[in-house]
Amino acid sequence: MAAPAHSYRMYIDGKWTDASSGATYALPNPATEESVGIVPDATREDMQRAIGAARKAFDEGPWPKSTPQERARVLNQIADGIERRKEKFREVLIAAHGVEYLTHQVQLEVPITLLRTYAELALRFEFEQLLPIQSVQGPMGPMVVSSMAYHQPVGVCGMIPTWNFPLFVSVQKLGPALATGCSMVFKPSPLGPLIDLLLAEVVEESDLPAGVYNVVCGESAELGIELTESPYVDKISFTGSVSTGKRVMEAASRTLKRVHLELGGKSAAIILDDYDLRAGAPGAASPAYFHAGQGCAMHTRVLVSRERHDELVENMSGFVKSFVKIGDPADPKTILGPVIRGERRESIERYIESGREQGADLVCGGGRPAELSKGYFLEPTIFANVKNDMKIAQEEIFGPVVSVIPFEDEDDAVRIANDSSYGLSGGILSNDTTRALAIAKRLRTGGVTINNANNLLYSPFGGFKESGIGREGGMWGLHEYSEVQAISWKA
Ligand code: NAD
Repeated sequence: MAAPAHSYRMYIDGKWTDASSGATYALPNPATEESVGIVPDATREDMQRAIGAARKAFDEGPWPKSTPQERARVLNQIADGIERRKEKFREVLIAAHGVEYLTHQVQLEVPITLLRTYAELALRFEFEQLLPIQSVQGPMGPMVVSSMAYHQPVGVCGMIPTWNFPLFVSVQKLGPALATGCSMVFKPSPLGPLIDLLLAEVVEESDLPAGVYNVVCGESAELGIELTESPYVDKISFTGSVSTGKRVMEAASRTLKRVHLELGGKSAAIILDDYDLRAGAPGAASPAYFHAGQGCAMHTRVLVSRERHDELVENMSGFVKSFVKIGDPADPKTILGPVIRGERRESIERYIESGREQGADLVCGGGRPAELSKGYFLEPTIFANVKNDMKIAQEEIFGPVVSVIPFEDEDDAVRIANDSSYGLSGGILSNDTTRALAIAKRLRTGGVTINNANNLLYSPFGGFKESGIGREGGMWGLHEYSEVQAISWKA
């Protein structure tokens, strides 16, 4: 018999609370379909209460006035707190999000280091930037003016993270917001709020004043709408789909909130002709299968020269069949776990069907693994001879499906990579770094990795085009959570 699901509460103004209606809902384990937790299903009134707490903490509390040293100390305390509870976080990532051991580095270890990095950046950020002295002609005669650009915290932040890399995404918001002195309300995804509730347990143990960090969870989109429409919220940081991002921006425009959007992607990896296809097939295939392909920046289009197309496809499918073991993420040998919900799997299957209908070659996968009767599993799938105007090449599938697209020459590869409404990430696989760098600079994407190298701690992260607005990560993150003020005085 399955163990009884644990009940969780929300965190508002430093106190644990149920939904005011008393309503709850259950979260399934995507690998077993059994319940892993019961969480409050909050109302708009609960959200208003949390916004009120964050507003009061910002307007009247000590946190926005705290020193960078104090903020760094608290950020490190929170990193320590996650470290202490690491096994609990790991358990929830596996059971509630289907996270495979292979990705624990980025799902668990990197976010802890990221918080420590934000502590370091809080100490290095130039909150006060002195500007060149000016001699000006004032109404009463000449005047020498000193001035500074001063970075105030942006204010109360409405945080809408998502479920696929839950700790990483939430820390990319929490870290810079605390480093700059903001207060906040997190509204986690209804598909996965537990990581933010565990973070609240860690925050409670830290010296962060009550009301600075609040978490309100529930199934209804009304909670996100309340947050984006509220006149008491200064900024929205949203991670999710393009369609919801557009609604968030529209609603936020009524109060002219600052809006930061981290949205989807349809990223292309370009394989240059010097790249060894036999040794390199995992390099081309695996970035698309991490976490069952549920990643915004994954390289789900693989671009290769027409002459080498068939060889690559053969090597990739050989690699996938021999290496990508599908199954329960609680098993450390599993490479590919389930997708998050049954409806999401059905949506991926509709894309697979459209790929077949539009004439792409289904090389491997495409179905549900026969040996797994429970859980939302899908086989790793490769389409070959894909044309870039096909639906599977243009739309984000968010599942373990890769499209291999042939190109004629380097310019054609760049054209195909850029022929997308998205612009989040891209990849180049080559031993010629000079040539790869030159191509990277022609890609209209917020990030490019060469041979899958990635700096997750200090780099800016965000999208061109419909992949988003704004940048998380590094010093760019601190700028996003600041409001710049010009202060001048007579020297
Ligand atoms: P989604 O758009 O379905 O939902 C995101 C959140 O928005 C949920 O919490 C939902 O409750 C809330 N919401 C729904 N309607 C709303 C409204 N009108 N106003 C405010 N909030 C509302 O996205 P999802 O399926 O949860 O996440 C997957 C998407 O996230 C993919 O497109 C993926 O590429 C993207 N993503 C982007 C990044 C990035 O950093 N760029 C990172 C991870 C995931």
